[in-house]
Amino acid sequence: MIEHSIRTIPDYPKPGIQFRDITTLLGDPLAYAAAVDALVAPYAAAPASARIVKVAGIEARGFILGGAVAHRLGAGFVPVRKKGKLPHETVRVAYALEYGTDEIEVHRDAVAPGERVLLVDDLIATGGTALAALELLRAIGAEVVAAAFVIDLPDLGGAARLRGLGLPVQTLVAFPGH
Ligand code: AMP
Repeated sequence: MIEHSIRTIPDYPKPGIQFRDITTLLGDPLAYAAAVDALVAPYAAAPASARIVKVAGIEARGFILGGAVAHRLGAGFVPVRKKGKLPHETVRVAYALEYGTDEIEVHRDAVAPGERVLLVDDLIATGGTALAALELLRAIGAEVVAAAFVIDLPDLGGAARLRGLGLPVQTLVAFPGH
């Protein structure tokens, strides 16, 4: 059900990209609930010592999924934002895009040292965005325990890169290519 609720837009935003559009998943009450349930499942029954204390979501689609996951886990939420959006003192990192670079940031005080954090986004492709978010969260003292994505594009290798760093990665559906 989750897979079929995701719409594919060919050649968006540029030729050759198969854009995996989750607005159709979000608009389907059953599919949205199924995706959030599946993202939450590995952590829901954790003993108190292994609880997820905060969920970090990557702007913008990671907010929609991560906020719901945080609520279900009784966790707080940390927004990982594009540069210039957060009003307090931040830590920022640049990461490579296909053409050029971008920057994301978090508030320096968004987590307490050692807090157990789950990283959430809608999709992992090359892993550049998630790796940058991981670096930021670690820089402010988080213990990032896992990363969770609705969609994996395994041919681009991002999930494998994160796992190679020892981070457990959970994905719900996979699409070939990019
Ligand atoms: P990456 O940093 O290469 O892992 O790219 C992941 C980020 O780019 C996520 O925030 C995705 O929302 C977005 N993204 C990358 N490729 C796609 C795609 N084919 N369809 C939709 N979103 C994508």
